[in-house]
Amino acid sequence: MIGLVVVEDDPLFRQLVRDALEHCDDIVLRAEAVNLSDGLALLAGAPAQVLLVDLGLPDGSGIEMIRAARRAWPACAVMVATLFGDEERVFASLEAGATGYLLKDALASGIVGEIRNLHAGGSPISPLIARRLLRHFHAPTPAVAAPAIELSAREQQVLEHITRGYSVAEIAEQLQVSPWTVQTYVRRVYEKLGVRSKSAAVDAAHRLGLLAPGERR
Ligand code: CA
Repeated sequence: MIGLVVVEDDPLFRQLVRDALEHCDDIVLRAEAVNLSDGLALLAGAPAQVLLVDLGLPDGSGIEMIRAARRAWPACAVMVATLFGDEERVFASLEAGATGYLLKDALASGIVGEIRNLHAGGSPISPLIARRLLRHFHAPTPAVAAPAIELSAREQQVLEHITRGYSVAEIAEQLQVSPWTVQTYVRRVYEKLGVRSKSAAVDAAHRLGLLAPGERR
């Protein structure tokens, strides 16, 4: 039996995991934590076999959770499920001891198979991440041309917040506008970038050089 612990603040993703496990008799969801401090507290208990961890937690980084889990539960396999696919976070996660790295958008219903694969000693890594890792070891990519995409100041702000992993509600709070207004900006940004998902928007923002220097990887 594979004992699973999930550290994830996104209720939809936790629900997706629970739904996926409903008809699965070799994986049992032992505990869920919705933030880093609750997650760290779980490490005092009996070790899980698989830890599924989000990187953007409300009170800290999932990378800290990975490090602590590797110390407290050395035999536990750690898989990252995140919106972030940038090189810095991928390397930090792998360095901290993660052996799987999946992008949420690409995960959908394959979670059960990915957990079994990880537990069996495999390293499930989303194709997009694998490509980025390989690219890192090959020749550097040529510099991108000046962006042909013009974002308004607000759209730019929203895009940068998205890139940092903030939710619509969090962005609304920070920019002091309604969530509905944020949704409108998000829709416009997606339209201008020609994307339909958060991770594609983050990827396009990096690829097209749309982020302020501090935001670039
Ligand atoms: Ca999150």
